[in-house]
Amino acid sequence: MRVLKFGGSSLADMACLERVRSLILNYGSEKAVVVLSAPGGMTDSLVSLVEHAQKGEDFSQQWDAFASRSAALKHEVEAQYGEVINWPSLNLLRDKLEGVKLLKQCPASVNAFAISFGERISVSLMVTMLKACGAKALEATECIKTRAEYLDSEVDLESTRDAVSKQVDIAEAGIYIMAGFTGSNALNELTTLGRNGSDYSAAVIAASLNADICQIWTDVDGVYSADPRLIKKATKVDRLSYKEAMELAYFGAKVLHPKTILPCAKANVPCEIKNTHDPDVPGSLISSNGTGDAPVKALSSLDDLAMLTVSGPGMKGKVGMAARVFGALANDNVSIVLITQSSCEFSISFCVYEQDLSLALNALEVAFELETQAGLIEPVEVRKELAIVTLVGDNMKSHKGLAAKFFASLAQAQVNVVAIAQDSTESAISAVISGDLCKDAMKVCHENFFTHVPSIDVFLLGCGLVGKELIKQLEKQQAWLANRNIKLNLYGVANSRQCVLSRDGVVFDQWESALSQSNSAFSLNQLEQFVKCNHLINPVIVDCSSSEQLADQYADFLKAGFHVVAANKKANTGDMAYYRALQQAAQSSGRKFLYETNVGAGLPVLDNLQLLFGAGDELLSFSGILSGSLSYMFGAIEDGLSLSEATTQAKQNGFTEPDPRDDLSGTDVARKLLIIAREAGLELELSDIQVEPVVPEQFAAGTSVEDFMAQLPELDAAFADRVQSAASEGKKLRYVGSIKDGVCRVGIEAVDVDHALYDIRDGENALAILSQYYQPKPFVIRGYGAGAEVTAAGVFADILKTLSR
Ligand code: ADP
Ligand code: ASP
Ligand code: MG
Repeated sequence: MRVLKFGGSSLADMACLERVRSLILNYGSEKAVVVLSAPGGMTDSLVSLVEHAQKGEDFSQQWDAFASRSAALKHEVEAQYGEVINWPSLNLLRDKLEGVKLLKQCPASVNAFAISFGERISVSLMVTMLKACGAKALEATECIKTRAEYLDSEVDLESTRDAVSKQVDIAEAGIYIMAGFTGSNALNELTTLGRNGSDYSAAVIAASLNADICQIWTDVDGVYSADPRLIKKATKVDRLSYKEAMELAYFGAKVLHPKTILPCAKANVPCEIKNTHDPDVPGSLISSNGTGDAPVKALSSLDDLAMLTVSGPGMKGKVGMAARVFGALANDNVSIVLITQSSCEFSISFCVYEQDLSLALNALEVAFELETQAGLIEPVEVRKELAIVTLVGDNMKSHKGLAAKFFASLAQAQVNVVAIAQDSTESAISAVISGDLCKDAMKVCHENFFTHVPSIDVFLLGCGLVGKELIKQLEKQQAWLANRNIKLNLYGVANSRQCVLSRDGVVFDQWESALSQSNSAFSLNQLEQFVKCNHLINPVIVDCSSSEQLADQYADFLKAGFHVVAANKKANTGDMAYYRALQQAAQSSGRKFLYETNVGAGLPVLDNLQLLFGAGDELLSFSGILSGSLSYMFGAIEDGLSLSEATTQAKQNGFTEPDPRDDLSGTDVARKLLIIAREAGLELELSDIQVEPVVPEQFAAGTSVEDFMAQLPELDAAFADRVQSAASEGKKLRYVGSIKDGVCRVGIEAVDVDHALYDIRDGENALAILSQYYQPKPFVIRGYGAGAEVTAAGVFADILKTLSR
């Protein structure tokens, strides 16, 4: 025989009821006890009616909604099945609620009567629908025997077994329909089993009848690796042990009432979770028959918890203190969710549901009144708004490193662990954390233990040439990323005036129109809110602008939990104090500040330098061509063009900044050199770099670009002389940044054929690093060091680096 339990989500309306009816009939003549919940949401309505009445408030509106929903269901079934339903008395319920309203208090017995009404309605409906098939109603209060409490009552398995055997004739085939969630105590008064308690009713009946199976029919395919409402990528777990299911249910997996599994486990009745809406999909089977090899089965979370800490000198080494703490709480019916104790026995911490907090505090105050007065016990410390995240799996005990991975995942989600607990069989590890971070914690843990698809959540600031190219590359690489199990989302794009954020991700080929429609500018505050609301766990701000104002905010970005990837050089070339502050902020926030493209665009310069210096190398001297524009111009000059012709050609080919003076001034090269010097450990400011501009600063200062270009030929003759005199010595002119003896210099140098930079032209960069490890021949990095494509690729590489630890 079977026990089938249908949850509220399976009984919400007439279509659902019909589906349940067919499922029951599908079992043919096999004996079945069917346990029904209230129609979905009806118990919530009843609870709310009681709450209103208890406060003495008018509840007529809520009543009308409840009554008309019930009446509609009744009429539909009566019309469909041509039967008069044996309907529970709504008048009696209303009278009781009116009484509660008058008294402004609700005895627990009345409360139980009221909230159990939904189950009675379900049974009345289904018995009528199955009348022709001989279904009988089974009175829950005559079967399920509980302890005395009216609410959240515990089932007495022995008496229930006796009672059930009197009500159900095992030998006789047929369908019994029983209300879940309800029972009766030794005085035969109606009791309820706690919210979600119909699962528990079904399990108790299944255990009492030694059923072949207890099926819990709900609105999901089975037990998932995490609550599917919270974690979209959660997947169904095919098999679980009783222990695993118990831990999951206890620590918040709503799919099962926490007390469901124990009766099934005791009687060795397998329990199957199945989907009413998709009955052919195999469900999850909970049994004593092995659990498979997977070390970790699922994650669950519980929130609205408070942690209390009892401490004081009187606790130390004193026998029986824990018993007194927990005894006091048990006396007042406070359930304790998790316990930890400091090794010196100086304090005991435990979690309770927030709704029980004042009860718990009161119980402790009374129990330890004397010790508190004598200063032996400190006032109880309370932390509210906490949650527990639990990792469950019987096989965890035979695998090393899972706890480490769990806590590393919490750290990755920027979650601070308040307390931890592990059961002695190592089937569950729990961490108490701040409630508002629960979803983030679940997301990262699920990603690391189950989906293995880490995400990168990009916000792009600045969409000029490099930014635009980056978006193209992000789009182009989606399949490549998916193949490597990486989810890269572009959640926002901003320019200096506008900012667009999209929770579904900015559509790659529509970002320009989306941005043009935005009427708000970028703000860190808004971004933080967005990240919080959408529980993004790896947010990266990518700065492809050249804005000083943005660079000034990097430290705040890092502190707010963003990685920062910068093509913008302004931050690293600000004052030394800010440079240090940024490194510091990255370190303390555990986020990355990456800026490989600050020097040599996409060339792997800074990464290599950092690795070399990290391995103990030291810079002896440096010499490099660091500007793609000047590399191009000096190559053109070498081919016989004048300075002004070379500049015009470079400008026309898009090799210069919009105002070529920005290149010719040497400042850009000075910034890059400063960054290299700082990476090498030199403490320098931009003003410490000696700069010889290609074109004197005063020349055409303050004029327009056009006027400057028109005047530039005035310098051609003098420049040609310089080229000529170098050539006479077999040398070529190069615009070089160099570091020697702690002095940084940027300027024109004549280099001979043996020099590492002699052949560098046409936009190429080259960096010759002479170091302790690389001498007398320098370590040389060479390649195109400018252009949107290579720069964007470098930025892209930095974005991917945010995934590494
Ligand atoms: P019913 O009305 O059938 O009793 P419940 O709402 O009580 O249904 O339980 C089913 C819900 O439990 C699912 O819709 C799901 O959102 C939630 N849930 C929480 N954790 C899990 C989990 N680990 N696996 C499956 N469902 C879960
Ligand atoms: N109807 C009750 C509730 O909503 C019991 C149940 O559905 O299991 O809590
Ligand atoms: Mg349920």
